This record gives sequence, C-alpha cells and structure tokens, in this order.
Amino acid sequence: MSDRLVLLGTKGGPAVRPGSPLPTATAMVVGGQVTLVDCGAGVTVSLAAAGLELSALRRVFLTHLHSDHVLELGPLLHTAWTSGLSRPLAVFGPAGTAHYLGSFMEMMRFDIKTRIEDEGRLPLRDLIMLTEYSQGEVLTSAQLCVTALANRHPPVKESYALRFDWQGRKSIVFSGDTAPFPPLADFAQGADILLHEAMLPAGMEAIVARVGGGERLRAHLRASHSEAAQAGEIAAAAGVGHLVLHHLIPADDPAFGEEDWRAALAETWAGPLTIGRDGLVIPLGEEAGGAGG
Ligand SMILES: [Zn+2]
Ligand SMILES: [Zn+2]
Repeated sequence: MSDRLVLLGTKGGPAVRPGSPLPTATAMVVGGQVTLVDCGAGVTVSLAAAGLELSALRRVFLTHLHSDHVLELGPLLHTAWTSGLSRPLAVFGPAGTAHYLGSFMEMMRFDIKTRIEDEGRLPLRDLIMLTEYSQGEVLTSAQLCVTALANRHPPVKESYALRFDWQGRKSIVFSGDTAPFPPLADFAQGADILLHEAMLPAGMEAIVARVGGGERLRAHLRASHSEAAQAGEIAAAAGVGHLVLHHLIPADDPAFGEEDWRAALAETWAGPLTIGRDGLVIPLGEEAGGAGG
C-alpha cells in the first residue's frame, strides 16, 4: 500500500442530500497503516470503497465533537470489530469523547455481549485505547508525532487543529473547523500539506438565502469558519507545500464549482492547490513533495 492521503468526506456540516458529498473524514495511509481524522456520516463505507480494510485502522483522531466530525465513530469502530479488527485501535478525541464511546457501548450492549459470548469475539472495549487530549503533545512514537492547537470555533471550546509529523516522511496539518486563526500559521510552519476548512462567500449568501436565518446564520458562519481566501493567507504565512481545501461550504450547490474556489484563492495563495472532493487520493510519495509556494 503506497503512502497516501484519501479524502473520504469533504463537505462542511452534517446534512446529506441526494448527490451531495459526505461530511468530514480523511484517511492517511502511511507504512500500510490507516490513520483517520474525523468520522462524519458515511465514513465506514467510504473507507471500504477506497479499498482500505477496516481491520487496518490503527488510529482515529477527532478534531471536535460536532456531529459532522463524530457521528459515525461508534458504528465505525463496531464495524471494524466485526470485520476482523484484532489489534488495539487508538482513539484520540477532546473531552467528551469518553462519554460518547461509553454511551455507544451501552446502547449496543445487547449486540456486543451476544457477539462476544456467541461468536467468541474479543471484547470490543478491550480493543479501543481511548485518550482524551488537549492542547500540546498528543502522541509521540518512533513513527509519528502528533500535536494539537486549540483553534477558534465558537461556541465549541474543545476544538483543535492537529499536526501529524510522520518521521522521515511527510508533515500534514489539519486546521479543524476554525475561524481565521493566525497562530495556525506558526503551528503549520513548513508542513508538506495543510488541509484547511473553507467557505465561499458567494455560496454562503446562497445558503443564507435558501435556509433562512439571515444575519444570525451569516454571523455564526463568519465567527466560526474561514473564507477560502483566508485559508490561503494562513497557508502562505505557514509556507506549506500544498494547500488542500475541505469541509467545503457550500459543497452541494451546483451553482458553485472548482473554478469558483480557485478564483477565491487567486489573491492569497499561488502554490499547489487541491479543492477537495470525496474519494480524491493525494500520493504522499516523493513525487508529491514540497513544491513550495
Ligand atoms: Zn464541521
Ligand atoms: Zn464544527
């Protein structure tokens, strides 16, 4: 399995409509192991559709507990378990993740207990190694260092950007959901890839017009998310090698396409740029590396 980044869900927000992309989830495949960031609806089937064995899942990180990032965590872990997971799977999430997982296990108590007793499966609980993290060092191993930076996503307090330094390989930073946040530029300094959330201002107005909410919805989006041009500013200040936009708002409005996103970034980012779409694969080999910008 070659090293790669797989965009599984690229839509901002939890709604799913006919033809729309899926809420947020991204897989990093490094050294044959799968590390997942966020678990929006559809992530289990998307991993399989991308050719990734659920039993190859080693780590799951949650940036925050909004449903478009966490809704399918329990079903994913359960399905990995019934699909042959036999090694511990590490889950890293902010405060509240233990409550989610404990409640899911309780909700599924009948099925989990039955499968252990009737099918001789290892207890699911014993396979999940949960860590609730906060800002700073999250994980340090010979292969991977992960650090977290509290970002700006009101009213959520426990919301983080995550940096993955794969030793001797690539550095990949996820903005998480955040309003423009200058400290993220230092945090992402020199990374090979920055995945940043993004809104398209004209598309945002179309959403406000379609769903109503007026100034209040507009103010919420502005206070807790970033416009595409602002993501470009952060990427330029950080000197990253490649900017990937995901958590797109809007993601399912046919009136807005890739050209609109590229145009929105024309003033702030001149380097390699990918506008995310579900199923897109970005190789992490040398050929993908450090074009600068
Ligand atoms: Zn979100
Ligand atoms: Zn959010």
